[in-house]
Amino acid sequence: MRQKIIAGNWKMNLDLDQGKELLIKIIDADVNTNCVSIIAPPYIHLNSFKTLLSHTNIALAAQNCHQQDSGAYTGEISVEMLKSVGVDYVILGHSERREYFHEDSISISFKVKNVITHGLRPIYCCGETLAERQDGEHFITIEAQIKQGLFHLNEMELLNCVVAYEPVWAIGTGETASPEQAQEMHNFIRKTIAQEYGEIVADNISILYGGSVKPANAKELFTCPDIDGGLIGGAALDAESFKALTDSF
Ligand code: PEP
Repeated sequence: MRQKIIAGNWKMNLDLDQGKELLIKIIDADVNTNCVSIIAPPYIHLNSFKTLLSHTNIALAAQNCHQQDSGAYTGEISVEMLKSVGVDYVILGHSERREYFHEDSISISFKVKNVITHGLRPIYCCGETLAERQDGEHFITIEAQIKQGLFHLNEMELLNCVVAYEPVWAIGTGETASPEQAQEMHNFIRKTIAQEYGEIVADNISILYGGSVKPANAKELFTCPDIDGGLIGGAALDAESFKALTDSF
């Protein structure tokens, strides 16, 4: 289950034509298959992207979903809908969703369960703010986010999750956690999981780092023993740099 992963989070960037142009460049760049490559475009791109990706090894992710299967939830997208267009992964609990859309680990936990129930895989994001790190509370924050967001799952369900540690102060800021800071937190996350589910489960979960990762700093992060790859924002919007990231293991 533990895999090397490069996941590109396109956020709210690129219209459909621009998105297709970039996706075709990424496909043509021949990304390295020694890791799992995942592209997470805006919702409206997903259907046509699945067709474009049909003869590739690149997987498709949504950036969010609703926790209910259907109903009067104007503007929302369910996991069943994502499944119907062939989505493989769903990013959940990104710090931008926590900050701008007031999601918290408890509400995200319902989405996590729903995604797994439908056979898709969540990429569950956690991360502390700068203030929390400066106050020495980063481990408390991450422990709470991991426990509240994931510990309602049974062992098999948890094994279907990918965790992404993304310190909020490093996302889109050009500021990266040092490999030592990142490794320390990844190890803490793995130990937290091991305490509840045992070492074997913890050792089989992919934990990605996110926060201003680019080809220039990827290798030193990805060689840390508990870092299994990256959730990448800005650097995933360029085909050459996305390809270079997949070459960084
Ligand atoms: C992200 O959006 O998850 C992210 C890590 O962004 P960036 O790589 O741009 O910091």
